[in-house]
Amino acid sequence: NDEINIISGTLSLKRKRVMDIMTPLDDTFMLPYDAILDFDTLAEITREGYTRIPVFEQTRSNVVGLLNIKDLALLDPDDCTAVKTLCRYYSYELCFVFEDTTLDVMLEEFKKGRSHMAFVQHVIQKGDGDPEYETIGVATLEDIIEEMIQSEILDE
Ligand code: ADP
Repeated sequence: NDEINIISGTLSLKRKRVMDIMTPLDDTFMLPYDAILDFDTLAEITREGYTRIPVFEQTRSNVVGLLNIKDLALLDPDDCTAVKTLCRYYSYELCFVFEDTTLDVMLEEFKKGRSHMAFVQHVIQKGDGDPEYETIGVATLEDIIEEMIQSEILDE
C-alpha cells in the first residue's frame, strides 16, 4: 500500500503545480530587510523554528534575500547585527519559479542544490507593458517529498 502511494504520488508530480503545494505568503515567517537581530528578534526566530527565513523589502511580496538559521549561531544579540548585513555577507542565490511550474520540474531544480526553497511568482499583466511579478508563497524540497509519499512529514 505504501509502495502504491509512492508510485501514484510520484506520477502526480507532472500534473501538480507549485502553487498547489506551496506555503502561502501569509503563513510564511519572514523578516524585513531593515530589521535588527536583537534579543527579541532572535528569540522569535528560535520560537518559529524554521531553517530558512525569507527577507523582504517594503512589502512581503517583494522578497530580496534569505537568512539561514545556521548563520545566526555565533551572533551576539548585544551586537544588534542588521538583517541586511547578513544578507549581503552570505548573499544566497534566490530561486524564483512561476506559480504554474510543475513539481517534477521543481524537483529537478532542487536537485541541482543551489537552493532548497523556491519563491513562487505570480505574474501581473497590466495592459501591454512588461509584466510585474509578486511572490505569493514558498515551496521547499520537503513540500515535494510530501507529495511523492502522499503523507505529512512531521517536524522534530
Ligand atoms: P524547516 O527545515 O524549516 O522545517 P522544511 O524545508 O523542512 O523547513 O519545510 C517544512 C514546511 O515548512 C514546508 O511546508 C515549508 O513550506 C514550510 N516552511 C519552510 N520555511 C518556512 C518559513 N520561513 N515560514 C513558514 N513556513 C515555512
